[in-house]
Amino acid sequence: MIYLDNQATTPLAPEAKEAMLRWLSGPESMGFANPHSAHPAGRAAMAAVEVARDQVAALLPSGGRVIFTSGATEAINQAILSVRRGGLAVSAIEHAAVIEAALASGAPVQELAVDADGLVDPEVEFAEGTGLVAVMQVNNEIGTVQPVARLAERAHAIGALLLCDAVQGAGKLAPPEGADLIAVAAHKLYGPKGIGALWVRDGVKIAPYLHGGGQEGGLRSGTLSPALCAGFGAAAALAKARMELDFQHLQGLAAAARKALPGWALNGSEVSRWPGNLNLRLDGLDVPRMMSELRDVAFSAGSACGSGSGKPSRVLKAIGLADRAAKSSVRLGFGRYTSLQEVEDACARIAAAAAAQGV
Ligand code: PLP
Repeated sequence: MIYLDNQATTPLAPEAKEAMLRWLSGPESMGFANPHSAHPAGRAAMAAVEVARDQVAALLPSGGRVIFTSGATEAINQAILSVRRGGLAVSAIEHAAVIEAALASGAPVQELAVDADGLVDPEVEFAEGTGLVAVMQVNNEIGTVQPVARLAERAHAIGALLLCDAVQGAGKLAPPEGADLIAVAAHKLYGPKGIGALWVRDGVKIAPYLHGGGQEGGLRSGTLSPALCAGFGAAAALAKARMELDFQHLQGLAAAARKALPGWALNGSEVSRWPGNLNLRLDGLDVPRMMSELRDVAFSAGSACGSGSGKPSRVLKAIGLADRAAKSSVRLGFGRYTSLQEVEDACARIAAAAAAQGV
């Protein structure tokens, strides 16, 4: 199987797995202790959680705190539902976690359109009364990198905060500048599933989200998993150390894929983009047929949560594609562990399957 679905999730880095093992072991090692317990075993587990917190914080801007959550969806919900500051302005290509949480908040929601390149206009007018602007760093379907720093400046100018969903960019690019709240997930940066974090700039007030034992400074109750925290921390430290190397590797893979699929059009900006994602379109292509023929290549037709709906991608429609064109697009997602040979083999198979369809 050639895995080209690294926007849906990434494989666990061996270093992250290794860091988790001690906290998954049985009664003999005390690694199972509750990190909120006051005895030495609990304190040892809490020390590991705090090391992990620092490792995750090192991927994010200085001057803020990291609250561990069950994933990015929870971090985003916490940010949107516990910051009560008037209306919301949300880009049209946000992940469902942002869009659905915004709608559930009951606050007025302004949708910020994107252009044909998949970029929000940094000079867009926010509606009167906007209290929170949500714009992602890297789009999960088309890989475009948004002008977050400028949008944060403009949000601040009207007294609003900026939430950045940095799930696809964290550990891969420098952190988004100017954001007040940042959501990240371990499993998109070669860490384990089931853990994420909300970064909150110092001085920004958020209300408790999960109520209970008062963990995470009272903001997110619930017993933390030292194993998940340690895996997240180790993955974050590795991502930070390898950021440049990983980036160059992905640039090479993206260039090879574009060369191998010359007639395909790129969805989203050519320039303002993350090279680990290529969303390519070949008009007339029957994508479900191609996916069923190429069972040993794991790629997708859009976001993992939107797949299976049969509907054209909301993101591709937002950049102006007609339903037919949106349905003729595939998302190829490369990662740290993808080899050049795998990209060349997968693209050759994709090209042959498309040729067999006569497109
Ligand atoms: N935001 C983006 C951009 C994503 O790609 C995802 C996952 O696909 C999420 C948020 C939600 O992350 P999770 O499902 O890990 O909570």
